[in-house]
Amino acid sequence: MILGVIADDFTGATDVAGMLVQSGLRTVQVIGVPQGPAPDADAVVVALKSRTAPAAAAVRESLAALRWLRAAGARQFYFKVCSTFDSTPAGNIGPVAEALMAELDAEFAIACPAFPENGRTVFRGHLFVGDELLSDSGMRDHPLTPMRDANLVRVLQAQSRGKVGLLRYDTVAHGPAAIRERCAALRAGGVTLAVADAIDNDDLRALAEACAEQPLITAGSGVALGLPAAYASRGWLRPDASAASLPAVGGAAAVLSGSCSTATNAQVLHWLQSGRPGFRVDALALAAEAPVADEALAWARERLAAGPVMVYATSAPQDVKAVQSALGVERAGQLVERCLAQVASALADSGVRRFVVAGGETSGAVVQALGVSTLRIGVTIDPGVPWTQAEGRPLLLALKSGNFGSIDFFSKALSQVN
Ligand code: ADP
Repeated sequence: MILGVIADDFTGATDVAGMLVQSGLRTVQVIGVPQGPAPDADAVVVALKSRTAPAAAAVRESLAALRWLRAAGARQFYFKVCSTFDSTPAGNIGPVAEALMAELDAEFAIACPAFPENGRTVFRGHLFVGDELLSDSGMRDHPLTPMRDANLVRVLQAQSRGKVGLLRYDTVAHGPAAIRERCAALRAGGVTLAVADAIDNDDLRALAEACAEQPLITAGSGVALGLPAAYASRGWLRPDASAASLPAVGGAAAVLSGSCSTATNAQVLHWLQSGRPGFRVDALALAAEAPVADEALAWARERLAAGPVMVYATSAPQDVKAVQSALGVERAGQLVERCLAQVASALADSGVRRFVVAGGETSGAVVQALGVSTLRIGVTIDPGVPWTQAEGRPLLLALKSGNFGSIDFFSKALSQVN
């Protein structure tokens, strides 16, 4: 194993794993910190569910993942965070990055969520989502981690003990040698974490080349696209062009959507407006202990033979806010996640073998309910979202982070596998 990745949520893990597979690294994703020996792969991604956990728990789990990956022989480590830098003032990106650095005796690491193919760019430390600053994007209304400041140096500093600095575009554009020199200067000036600007894939490749020998990289999936080439140029591996094929599994198909992002709202609407079947999960009905999961299942089972069905809790921001003020953010989230997880498990028992799941937390809950612990990574559907196979089982899963995918993502994904 060359690269050990610690991902703070499930869809983030598949996102970075897909990126590595696309660039020719044989990659396996494990759910949670494994007990046994490491699988045979160039990169192993440990998917945690730590993004919204209390900071101390996120640190504990991340360190456990690091220790397992290190014992398995990884040479470099990658803390995969969201491309919209999802976190709260209490953490978890700063506390986890600093704990990993302490364990690795690393004095310096970059932090770069840029993913230009998906419209996430960082310039002068400010994160853009498409043409908007992060703080003007739909992320300002995220149910769990609303992001209202686009200045990542400020965001990360608020979560960190050490000094946070900026690796400006002016340097990144000059390539790996300039980046290395600047990293050394920042480090000499007492900076421990530096937010790195990047506006296109060439910037990410330059960052990857410059940082391939640093113990830790904290980043979205973007920087990973440059790592296989950086490793190959050092003679550490030979990229494998056939890293991504998955078998046909047959069976029925279902979409489960618990994301309330702008993109997912549009995707759900597109699915429904094109005449496909959808069942809406009502969070308030769940709180009133109505048998919502049973109703969804009965509804789905009647329709499965005719084609894919969707069960969704996805709602517009004002509806989510109303539900959250009635139930509390955490309780609303948990009720919905538990319901969709229950539906997933029962649908699998009814013969569903291809699942498309929208939402990071939602995917985590679904994967857990399905008892999946290892995923083989396959072809990319849209930037950031590959198909995956539950290792050794006839079960395919596409786990979509809320903000990702084209408007017809759900039907497109299901048209790509049998
Ligand atoms: P994303 O990838 O868009 O962040 P997540 O699944 O990570 O999506 O987070 C969405 C959260 O919102 C989940 O905890 C989910 O259970 C919750 N949720 C989904 N639908 C609703 C709703 N209608 N009202 C309140 N919370 C909801």
